[in-house]
Amino acid sequence: MNDPLIWIEDELRTIHDSNLFRHLTELQSGQYPEVTIDGKNYILLASNSYLGLSTDPRVIRAASESLEKYGTGSGGSRLVSGSSDIHRQLEERIASFKNTESAILFSSGYLANFGIISSLVGAGDVIYSDELNHASIIDGCRLSKADIRIYRHLDMDHLSELLENETKTGKKLIVTDTVFSMDGDLVDLAALVELSEKHGCILMVDEAHATGVLGERGSGATEYFGVEARVPVVMGTLSKAVGSLGGYIAGSKQLTDYIRNRVRSYIFDTSLPAASVAASIKAIEIIEGEQERRDHLWYLINMFKSGIGDMGLKILDTNSAIIPVLIGEPEETLAFAAELRKQGVYTPAVRPPSVPPGKCRIRASLMASHSEEHIEKALEAFRMAKSKIIDN
Ligand SMILES: *Cc1c(COP(=O)(O)O)cnc(C)c1O
Repeated sequence: MNDPLIWIEDELRTIHDSNLFRHLTELQSGQYPEVTIDGKNYILLASNSYLGLSTDPRVIRAASESLEKYGTGSGGSRLVSGSSDIHRQLEERIASFKNTESAILFSSGYLANFGIISSLVGAGDVIYSDELNHASIIDGCRLSKADIRIYRHLDMDHLSELLENETKTGKKLIVTDTVFSMDGDLVDLAALVELSEKHGCILMVDEAHATGVLGERGSGATEYFGVEARVPVVMGTLSKAVGSLGGYIAGSKQLTDYIRNRVRSYIFDTSLPAASVAASIKAIEIIEGEQERRDHLWYLINMFKSGIGDMGLKILDTNSAIIPVLIGEPEETLAFAAELRKQGVYTPAVRPPSVPPGKCRIRASLMASHSEEHIEKALEAFRMAKSKIIDN
């Protein structure tokens, strides 16, 4: 009998041959500044828990108390059996955090992006999407059947040109990450809002990597740019700086009512477990209340960036806790990451399809729970790796 999956062997060989095979690194600890891998200690420069809140004792306590009270699973979709008082409380908390009238929860950021775009636009409509938008946005766009116009990364002139030349008369949606997940750079949201309003577009932003990091209250790019009332659809995740799990859309009450009635990844998906919900509520309280965590994070970001720059390594133009150190080709980047690992630092080599060919990088991410000493040691490891992999 022929194996109907025999073709996978060829596919895997192709992936291996181009140094693009992916495997998992297993941690035997949580997302602390130092983690255990194969029984050894490493400085973690790979987490999106930018404020260190996934391991904060207060967040853990809130999660475990609600675990005791509500149990492990939520029992079903929000509309059938899985909605509780703390789901509502978290939505209210998010709305006040994002300074919007309302908010609605999803089980992940991916499901939020994937589900909502096709409820806003469809066949006959047009989406304008930054070329480096997150995969969940891209998949949501494809699902919608709208025409998709990709504009050059952060290029407002290009977007403006596309809008000026548009011939379709349907709805127009502009969608973008605010902080980009692999480059760490930031959209000029003030300019984007102007452009969107001028052309009568729906503007949707993804605050996954801006939440907790940007803005005085840590609310994200809409707060940082002072445009909270001018972005009609704000998406975010609870899985990064918030340190928990889940996604949300913040906006008007009409918008969230509409989503509750139309978006399939909301309607047909089991709601978040109480422990994750309670963790998010506590974490948002800490994000808003403890600006010093953000200040410390930014201190470390600047320290790390200037240290890397001094070595003559190239950092992409970042405005966040994501520090992409550009290496180039997959093989060299893997070797660089392996050398960092030898020096006691765990940080990922990012290769296509996550980034364009030739732009492989070490994507270092920092946390407010790191100390200056962690960053000094990490810089020393980068210095060693550079001398062994790049300079020889
Ligand atoms: C991580 C991420 C998502 C997906 O969020 P999850 O909660 O991890 O599913 C969406 N958009 C961006 C920009 C992200 O980085």
